[in-house]
Amino acid sequence: MVKLFQAADATDLVTELRRSFDAGVTRGYEWRVAQLKKLLLICDNHESEIVSALHDDLGKPELESSVYEVALLRNSINLALKQLKDWMAPDKAKTSLTTFPASAEIVSEPLGVVLVISAWNYPFLLSIDPVIGAISAGNAVVLKPSELAPASSSLLAKLLEQYLDSSAVRVVEGAVPETTLLLEQKWDKIFYTGSSRIGRIIMMAAAKHLTPVVLELGGKSPVVIDSDTNLKITVKRIIAGKWGCNNGQACISPDYILTTKEFSPKVVDAMKQELEAFYGKNPMESKDMSRIVNSNHFDRLSKMLEENEVSDKIVYGGQKNRDKLKIAPTILVDVPLDSQIMSEEIFGPLLPIITLNNMEEIFDVIRSRPKPLAAYLFTQNQKLKERFAMTVSAGGIVFNDIAVHLAVPTLPFGGVGESGMGSYHGKFSFDAFSHKKAVLYKSFIGDAAIRYPPYSTGKLRLLKALVNSNIVEIFRVLLGLS
Ligand code: NAD
Repeated sequence: MVKLFQAADATDLVTELRRSFDAGVTRGYEWRVAQLKKLLLICDNHESEIVSALHDDLGKPELESSVYEVALLRNSINLALKQLKDWMAPDKAKTSLTTFPASAEIVSEPLGVVLVISAWNYPFLLSIDPVIGAISAGNAVVLKPSELAPASSSLLAKLLEQYLDSSAVRVVEGAVPETTLLLEQKWDKIFYTGSSRIGRIIMMAAAKHLTPVVLELGGKSPVVIDSDTNLKITVKRIIAGKWGCNNGQACISPDYILTTKEFSPKVVDAMKQELEAFYGKNPMESKDMSRIVNSNHFDRLSKMLEENEVSDKIVYGGQKNRDKLKIAPTILVDVPLDSQIMSEEIFGPLLPIITLNNMEEIFDVIRSRPKPLAAYLFTQNQKLKERFAMTVSAGGIVFNDIAVHLAVPTLPFGGVGESGMGSYHGKFSFDAFSHKKAVLYKSFIGDAAIRYPPYSTGKLRLLKALVNSNIVEIFRVLLGLS
């Protein structure tokens, strides 16, 4: 029988990991590199098991699992291995006249014992990618994968235990009760990926211990299609970014399309044509699409689709099979803006298209809604791109493609407002798990009497001039001219 994870287990776990951290186990460059290399070995030796777990949990096609989970992780680990020395090196900082003579640097120090809570939709990528950051930055870490992807969760627990240093890296499997026990502990950072509803619970638990958080949340990511676009490529990329990424169950998946009334019939026709080319006449039979994760999510999506004034707006798809947890790619045109499908994150294979009179109205719809994790614009119009970049607030924006910014490690990945706080990927992951410690080096040379009592008007003037770095005034005071 599996032993229940209880309050004392959570306390013991953190105590044990803190002991390792305090003993310096995780601090050295060699330890960090050794753990990262082990993560690489997991990717190399167990890719087929990972692919099979993802198939069990989500019916994820092999290509998506191998590329969007394992290959992206390999990239992330290799980058960390290549750049870790640079990341760990202190950054020289300039000093000012006030502290002259002195030198200064910014030291990246590990935070301590951190908790990573991840989601079910990309269970390997979203679990291991933050762990790469935590280890690179020299922390001890506990990972809590999502219970909604149980095959992936148990494989993660098995492999991390088998390969990594268990005195400093652990996996706790479980659902709400286990996570609640973990959240009662004092962590030095909590990195959470999931919905904004649970994000609020995480932040409240963190506040009790003044624990900083990274919240990688979701939201409704809009896609704007301008008429000045290459429509064939536009539509192919939208399909690949929606149904070709875990069947719309992705945080930066296109949630809805905005285009003009005039252009929308062309968009709909092109979508139908390319969808059929990708998934055939009967997409319910396609092996190239994930299924819906579970019956709760299937019912949630069905409810969205069956709402009044929504069900009659389907122009393509709409087929469902609850036993197989399959919903066909479904396009709807001009559903009400206050319907459930336009108010909540869809996170599935439904795609509403909203048509408006012009770009001004389109921009207004985006700006009147909570800030999304991603916003996309397809256009060849440079001026429009500039306006979009300057006026639309989102975690990230991409022109003429979907989701690809996620694979650029020099770009921070994270949300703003309702879509989250903090970011990671590449060096941003290292920074997310580091404290930037200010270190100032002074010697005993140049001990100026003006900073010590008894105070005088002359000292006051000189100190003010020094603090303001006003060289002219310093000379005037020193020469008795002020
Ligand atoms: P979720 O919030 O249901 O679950 C995520 C994690 O939270 C799981 O590990 C789960 O065990 C834990 N959890 C659930 N209920 C909890 C509770 N009451 N107390 C403490 N912990 C609890 O999210 P999800 O359904 O797994 O993921 C979907 C959401 O995540 C979507 O909104 C999506 O956009 C977002 N997401 C964001 C990113 C990103 O990188 N920004 C990536 C993937 C998913």
